[in-house]
Amino acid sequence: MSDAIRFEDQVVIVTGAGGGLGRAHALLFARQGAKVVVNDLGGSTHGEGANASAADKVVEEIRAFGGTAVANHDSVTDGDKIVQTALDHFGRIDVLVNNAGILRDKSFHKMEDADWDLVYRVHVEGAYKTTHAAWPHLREQNFGRVIFTSSTSGIYGNFGQSNYGMAKLGLYGLTRTLAIEGRKNNILVNAIAPTGATRMTEGLIPPQVFEQLKPELVSPLVVYLGSAACQDTGGLFEVGGGWVGKVRWERSLGAGFDPKAGFSPEDVAAQWQRICDFEGAAHPADNVEALKEMMAHLQKYTL
Ligand code: NAD
Repeated sequence: MSDAIRFEDQVVIVTGAGGGLGRAHALLFARQGAKVVVNDLGGSTHGEGANASAADKVVEEIRAFGGTAVANHDSVTDGDKIVQTALDHFGRIDVLVNNAGILRDKSFHKMEDADWDLVYRVHVEGAYKTTHAAWPHLREQNFGRVIFTSSTSGIYGNFGQSNYGMAKLGLYGLTRTLAIEGRKNNILVNAIAPTGATRMTEGLIPPQVFEQLKPELVSPLVVYLGSAACQDTGGLFEVGGGWVGKVRWERSLGAGFDPKAGFSPEDVAAQWQRICDFEGAAHPADNVEALKEMMAHLQKYTL
């Protein structure tokens, strides 16, 4: 049995916590003793409108079981205001869960600039603004946990989700760099790619499976990643239905060509099978490891 994971005296912001996955995360953090800022603009899945009652209801739910929470109704694109709510009410911020999101699904040939821009703004700019406002406080106290919400649609691609996939994998790029920059200040940064039954996925998943994908089955991972018990950083985790797995990059051993003599497109074609063969593949964990193979190849020709 592991030690209990508790958040007494710690402040957690969950964006988009007025429903779906964010609500489940906020409730679990509060049950584990955290003071929670429940942020939600309260708009539609398509990012239209606003309604303060979404966040207010979740705050009421938390207070009803004796937990501590405050609502914030700003858009994540005004992330500094969300962080200010945490500071005004609780005087600090320890954990940030970037969860707010919308969909504007359209096949690429029908994609309009407005669909592309709004999805970018909510997911990427919103997560940037909120994290950027929280960052100096996390650095100063030498502790922080940040969780970004990616998606299998970003990792693997999905028809009709070019805007969403771009944003969601962008968040993983952000995760990787913030993990590097945050480490020396004990700010650990991870990303999840969840699957859960919410208004966002209703009608997309067969009803018998949908029933089993309760949002609460995603939150234990998020709460663990938000805790001091978690020492991992830069990770990407697929989670849903009570299952959790880690994702990593895999790269083939590749094929080498003479850099001095140069090589032709036909040479590439001749080596294509080898380039794409994952037998004995490498799993570079950082830029230095990633470049090792190429440097070793160059060295063969410079000795
Ligand atoms: P949801 O629609 O139930 O929740 C999203 C919440 O974000 C809503 O309450 C909405 O009001 C809020 N929100 C939207 N725009 C906002 C803004 N500008 N500022 C503040 N709040 C805003 O959907 P969900 O399924 O719970 O999604 C949560 C996150 O998980 C999203 O980032 C989504 O892309 C991601 N995700 C969900 C699934 C899934 O299977 N449900 C899969 C992959 C990724």
